[in-house]
Amino acid sequence: MTDAPHVSLLAPGIHLVRVPMPGGALAFSNAYLIEDALGALHVVDPGSPGTSRATLLPALARLGRRPEDIASIVVTHLHPDHAGAADELRSESGAVVLLHERERDALRTLAAGLPVPDLERWGVPADRRAELLALSVAPGAPVVAAPDVTVADGDVLDIPGRSIQVVATPGHTPGHLCLHDADARLVVTGDHVLEGVEIDEVHDVERHPPQRHRHQRRADAG
Ligand SMILES: [Zn+2]
Repeated sequence: MTDAPHVSLLAPGIHLVRVPMPGGALAFSNAYLIEDALGALHVVDPGSPGTSRATLLPALARLGRRPEDIASIVVTHLHPDHAGAADELRSESGAVVLLHERERDALRTLAAGLPVPDLERWGVPADRRAELLALSVAPGAPVVAAPDVTVADGDVLDIPGRSIQVVATPGHTPGHLCLHDADARLVVTGDHVLEGVEIDEVHDVERHPPQRHRHQRRADAG
């Protein structure tokens, strides 16, 4: 048996669940359970692949809730430590999965096959091109099969009794989103704000968990 999931109350009806990040750069990712006015639940960032049954569903049970109570699963961005459990949780609950439309586009780009970059024209030395090509066009399974619903900047989520707004925050990924609940005075920031993780990853699709990077002080700053 695994340890009981760590669940804490952030605001009335909004719970934080620590989801283990197996093999990841950090020990945990943050998932959020949001109760609505009609008794349903909405999950934000369910976490890494394979963690649903071990962590999120037991966390639900601790709150006296069942998988069928989940109405929607919102993913801040397509990295596996945030979105990796979305498909399994969708299967367990029947809930819809929401993504920013630019993350949906990234999924489509990956499914269609990434274009091969012209590294010679870019001036990449011949002895480094194979290495770069392997990184840039390596195929991979999609983090999420497909969203049921896409959202964009300014949209208000369909969560009865709450007004939670989508704030597009491209940078960490093109379709990264934050969620702003003004009434609860809460912003869910995904990886938009996270010490040690860069926010300038502008590739269409990131298939690796966040890496710790040192921010380099620019010698020419100022
Ligand atoms: Zn990330």
